Amino acid sequence: MKQAFRFPLKQHIGEQAVPAIVKGDRIVRGQLLALKKENTLSANIYSSVSGVVLEVNDKQIVIKADERQTEEYIPLKSNTPLELIEEAGIVGLGGAGFPTWAKLSKPFGEGGKIIVNAAECEPILSHNIKCIEENPEQLVSGMKIVMNITRAEEGVIAVKEKHHTAVRRLQEAIAGENMRVVLLPDLYPMGEERAVIREVTGNILPVNSIPIEAGVIVLNAETVCRIWEAVTLKKPLIDKNITVAGKLREDEKPVQVLCDVPLGMSVKDVFDMAGGVAEGYGELIMGGPFTGKRTQMDAPVIKTTGGLIATECFMSGPEKIGLLVCACGADKSRLQELAKSLGSEVAAVRYCKQAKEVKNAWKCENPGKCPGQVQKVLELKREGAQAILISNCTDCSNTVMSCAPQLGLPVYHCTDGALRAVNHPLIRKIHKNKLQEV
Ligand code: SF4
Repeated sequence: MKQAFRFPLKQHIGEQAVPAIVKGDRIVRGQLLALKKENTLSANIYSSVSGVVLEVNDKQIVIKADERQTEEYIPLKSNTPLELIEEAGIVGLGGAGFPTWAKLSKPFGEGGKIIVNAAECEPILSHNIKCIEENPEQLVSGMKIVMNITRAEEGVIAVKEKHHTAVRRLQEAIAGENMRVVLLPDLYPMGEERAVIREVTGNILPVNSIPIEAGVIVLNAETVCRIWEAVTLKKPLIDKNITVAGKLREDEKPVQVLCDVPLGMSVKDVFDMAGGVAEGYGELIMGGPFTGKRTQMDAPVIKTTGGLIATECFMSGPEKIGLLVCACGADKSRLQELAKSLGSEVAAVRYCKQAKEVKNAWKCENPGKCPGQVQKVLELKREGAQAILISNCTDCSNTVMSCAPQLGLPVYHCTDGALRAVNHPLIRKIHKNKLQEV
């Protein structure tokens, strides 16, 4: 067992958790480390290892793990399913980490739907689909728990059509249940929450609306499986499924799924579990190629970590580059960081015209349906860009590629380094009539 495990006190939306232990305490796997702040949106944090507390500060708790570890854990104590979900510290595991107990705490009136988001929207990431293929019954049992809590009338699992095995196994597992499988096209960002709702209900929510206004609650697939663990096995949220990919050592598969990685483990130790990172990579990303953030070897795995990717080395960019920002892809600061790594100065920044700012976040009015990008590309060229770096969705990238090269502007995409590292087709090289290949 590796030594230092780090547990940030804020791994979710809302208030950070409050330490419940002190330096020097002996800790057992499954023991409460930090308590959700009372009467706020927050979530408990538990230790994934047994060991001794090395440090407690206002940002994190560090534990020196014992050499020998076991899979056992201290079980949860609550009685009702909703209390167990709250006690377990479960948050949305596919996105920003909204505390799940809060999402489920108000039952529907009539006609409510639970939608399980199994889109696994980002290219490369594959841990949700692998778990569904191997154990669809766990997901379906988790859905039943959630549907009972919320008194939902229907359960829907949204999954990409291309995952034939997962779709078949889900259809077998839901037989006789009040559930259905909805097939999604293989485009980015079909897993964006409002895109999933649009594909299931036929209606697109305004950017400032929340799913409950459409009578639905959307939960990520792994979140539902962890709900099943909390309610059935009384297991706190201490482990995470992760896709590890990219420039791994030569004899290793470039995309691997690791199940039940203990939270708090360092990025380096997780890469080592997958065989280790090869020499000469570009950057390390935590998350997917579109929305992941640059990370470091000593950063910890947290509740929302879904992917760890070592990218291909950076190409050399032009002197001046224009940025075209998507609300569902890499944000402006991430594109600025990538421009710097290309060795380029940012000439100008433009947002996709469907990107709207709502409460300090960017949301797309109709995710994945291109509103046209020619005007933005022309503006970037006029402002001195010699090339453009984009984070656009599949459909919009296709539009950019239909005009920028003709204007003499080479195109870079925020996902290039990650996709090159695993020999995945580049988003900006996919022609409209081949969108299904993404
Ligand atoms: S339409 Fe624009 S903002 Fe929306 S997903 Fe595509 S690029 Fe992003």
